[in-house]
Amino acid sequence: MSKREKYSFAAAPATAKKFWKSLEAKENPAAFAKAAEPEFPMGVGTVEDAASVSRRGFLTVATATAAAIGLEGCVRRPVEQILPYAQAPEYLNPGVPMHYATSVERRGEALGLLVTTHEGRPTKIEGNPEHPASLGSTDLLAQAMVLDLYDPDRSNAPKQGEAKKTFADVDALMASIVRTHSADAGAGLRILATPSISPSFLRLRAAVQQRFPQAKFYTWTPVNESNAREGARLAFGEPVVAHHDYQGAKIILSIDSDFLQTESGSIRSARRFADGRRLSQATDSMSRLYVVESTHSTTGANADHRLALAPSKITAYLRALAKELATAHRIELGPLGAALQGASNAGLPTKWISNVAKELVGARGRSVIVAGSRQPAAVHALVHALNAALGNHGATIVFSSVADTTETDQTASITAFAAGLEGAKTAIILGGNPVFDAPADLDLATKLARVETSLHFSGTHDETCHATKWHVPRAHELESWGDLRALDGTVTIQQPLIAPLFGGRTDLEVLAQLAGERNWRGYYVVRQTLRGAAGVQNGFESEWRRVLHRGFVAGSAEPPRPGVIDMSRVATALGRSEPAVDGFEAVFLACAKMLDGRHANNAWLLELPDPLTRITWDNVALLSPKTASELGVRNGDMIRVTRDGTSIELPAWKLPGQPDKAVGLLMGWGRKHAGRYGNDVGFDVYPLRRSDALHSAAVQVAKLAGSYPISQTQDHDSMEGRPIAIDGTLEEFKADPTFAIHRSPTPRTLPLWREVEYRGHKWGLVIDLGACTGCNTCVIACQSENNIPTVGKAMVAKGREMHWIRIDRYFVGEDANEPEVAFQPLACQQCEEAPCENVCPVEATAHSPEGLNDMAYNRCIGTRYCANNCPYKARRFNYFNWHTKNEADEEVPPTRQMQFNPNVTVRMRGVMEKCTYCVQRIETARTATKIAGRPMRDGDINVACAQACPSNAITFGDLNDAASRVSRQNQVSRHYKLLADIGAQPRTTFLAKVRNPNPEMSA
Ligand code: SF4
Repeated sequence: MSKREKYSFAAAPATAKKFWKSLEAKENPAAFAKAAEPEFPMGVGTVEDAASVSRRGFLTVATATAAAIGLEGCVRRPVEQILPYAQAPEYLNPGVPMHYATSVERRGEALGLLVTTHEGRPTKIEGNPEHPASLGSTDLLAQAMVLDLYDPDRSNAPKQGEAKKTFADVDALMASIVRTHSADAGAGLRILATPSISPSFLRLRAAVQQRFPQAKFYTWTPVNESNAREGARLAFGEPVVAHHDYQGAKIILSIDSDFLQTESGSIRSARRFADGRRLSQATDSMSRLYVVESTHSTTGANADHRLALAPSKITAYLRALAKELATAHRIELGPLGAALQGASNAGLPTKWISNVAKELVGARGRSVIVAGSRQPAAVHALVHALNAALGNHGATIVFSSVADTTETDQTASITAFAAGLEGAKTAIILGGNPVFDAPADLDLATKLARVETSLHFSGTHDETCHATKWHVPRAHELESWGDLRALDGTVTIQQPLIAPLFGGRTDLEVLAQLAGERNWRGYYVVRQTLRGAAGVQNGFESEWRRVLHRGFVAGSAEPPRPGVIDMSRVATALGRSEPAVDGFEAVFLACAKMLDGRHANNAWLLELPDPLTRITWDNVALLSPKTASELGVRNGDMIRVTRDGTSIELPAWKLPGQPDKAVGLLMGWGRKHAGRYGNDVGFDVYPLRRSDALHSAAVQVAKLAGSYPISQTQDHDSMEGRPIAIDGTLEEFKADPTFAIHRSPTPRTLPLWREVEYRGHKWGLVIDLGACTGCNTCVIACQSENNIPTVGKAMVAKGREMHWIRIDRYFVGEDANEPEVAFQPLACQQCEEAPCENVCPVEATAHSPEGLNDMAYNRCIGTRYCANNCPYKARRFNYFNWHTKNEADEEVPPTRQMQFNPNVTVRMRGVMEKCTYCVQRIETARTATKIAGRPMRDGDINVACAQACPSNAITFGDLNDAASRVSRQNQVSRHYKLLADIGAQPRTTFLAKVRNPNPEMSA
């Protein structure tokens, strides 16, 4: 019998806001509490349920990681035969990973990366700390791309129709294309590529155009920057790129820009935004973020004030704000002033116009207005004009030139390509998947079928390959030589980490063949470009090695420059604004996981809960709770969305904060030819997306009979109303900088056991909830580092997802239509008095001498007492052998086995697992520093989640080192322990979130 005092939870202050995970929990807390009583969702512990998993379920269950063949029953360890190298490759030390600098393209910019390889296999991706775009971090897509590399459904041979061909056949075909079009100067040659930021691509494109002067180049990507470019062209006369200083800005106004997640440059934006809001003491200041948006985005979830508006009303809001600035505050807008005379506040909340204008004027030269890529060019131009008038240009906003000054509007370009296919003899498509994602009215598949010779270079045999005569495997970015230009102009090198697994070609190599380059291999192409650009002839080899080592050409960034705006052009553009729509509007959304559909066969991303809805393995139509109730639909009910006679049917989902009458449609789902994981997963929304309205459109919505099962995690792992994700306002923080610890006080009870004195290292982790944006990058980073399997949709529905770190998303406040949001990353808290350790009958989980709550996997007998006793619900149980075979007894493909981190044990069926602070990284650093003959220093070790986090929300280190970052974070007054009342003494701790609302907004 415990002699402890009975635990009583600290009562929340009367003024504390209500936290809720789902509308069901908010509307019926009693029923929700009852459902949460059994600790785990219905059926989670019923192993025999596996028999009912369908064959498709088996395939989705097939893990994204794999070990060698496992034998069931009495033999728990895989039996493997291995052979040593007869002749080891040069520089290779078995067991010692190598790290290489490279880069990938992400929404029009280069992302500098460091890739870890084990014996030649890329296994893990990190950001390059010296690169201006990544700053040492990544986004979740970069974390997941290593799984795309090992996708078992990647194309492994060229094809003509359904007939397998060789690369020699492809070379012969390319030679014949060259011969044919040498005769007509390229008149019948059409080339479609994704927009490129590669200096080599641009050089080779010019060379191809010189060789075939009549040939036509086009570009297309469905999530693009065309409106931003056109807006800049209107404002400045040229398509410049704006760089926003989210750290220095005091007032930030986002006009439908998800700059923290899905927009270009999001990693750097998230870091700078978080840096502008880190509070250590009461005298610190922080920025204030206003978001006006047409869906509920990650950026909106981090806003201090958020206004949900239907897409067509956003221009009206900005015009009204501009008019207020010009008239009430005498901001000089020149000829633009007259164009704004007709702007009206009708239907818009007045406080959002008057207060925001006042705030922007009060922060002249220290504010930022940013428009999202969905917004029309006129809105971008007006935003430039307002920033200029507010004195932000040259202060919080600077500009650089774009990589490709000839790039035209993407919709115009793909429309011209479709038209140009009439009469074309040869169509070459480099990458992308336009048959799936181009505007539906262009009917590319039919037009391509009429072209005599059509080739698609693609990583998988996708929808476009099925419409072209030829398909050629395209090398993955981690297999390719290339060069890319970061937004600031920094030339970044892409070097292959592995030879193409299936012999794919790169875009550069195809263009080099067409251009007649003697050495058309990517390696020579990139060197040739760099040699020409750098003008380095003597000493090139040593410069080349330096560039490869660093990953980019030092000093190649452009000096930033201010923009010179032409207000009269902006005024003219504003006159062409679209009228508001009265009725339902569809808004087409770039998916945080699929982007445009290119990652549709990535099981990690498919299973990752959506940042806001927490839905896995599906997309839905997002509706506001009010709209859903007017339509009479519940979560999962099927609806029909119709635009001009074309309909799609998909399940509805109520998303608090979604604008009324705005139907959010996530793009990239519902693929037919993605691969075994992604085929027929989710619902294709592209049929409604046409060239006349790429981002939003008036639609009709009707409820259908029937519903569709959705697997989501938002109600899993409930902590039942206790103080969890603690937040307060800046005012509260200034009044009491230690407010968080008062809401989650540590009890004065004596410890159960004799307390351990840690004489060496004492590892700890601090998570700053004020910096966490909820982007999910850490979840995939942890999965990639720790060989964490996926389990499939049916298993997620049972609460069997395996993520070691999860992001709990809470809605905050009383209003279901306008809630605030709080995110809380949650993993094993490495408790000092761990409730799990006390109940394990075989001591499979026990404390290490450095304070980790270790797991001895081969001891675990799977009673799951520990998971039951974990107050944080942070433990995961292997109900099946996710890593070996799926339940259809199909072995996981060999390419998947290549992704494994060899330093992390692969867990078998019946074993409990959880976060262990990446103990393998601790041991690696221990060995390295021992060899170097020095003690471990702060920064020698970083755990995977902390290293990947774009906003530096997670800090890991030694709590016994008073100077370490983690120790200093522990001293910050916002610091608190989660459910401290329980007395478990968690080692992972939190910094409370602080919001910075404008008191006048609630007046
Ligand atoms: S802690 Fe995780 S979810 Fe939060 S910002 Fe960092 S990576 Fe994103």
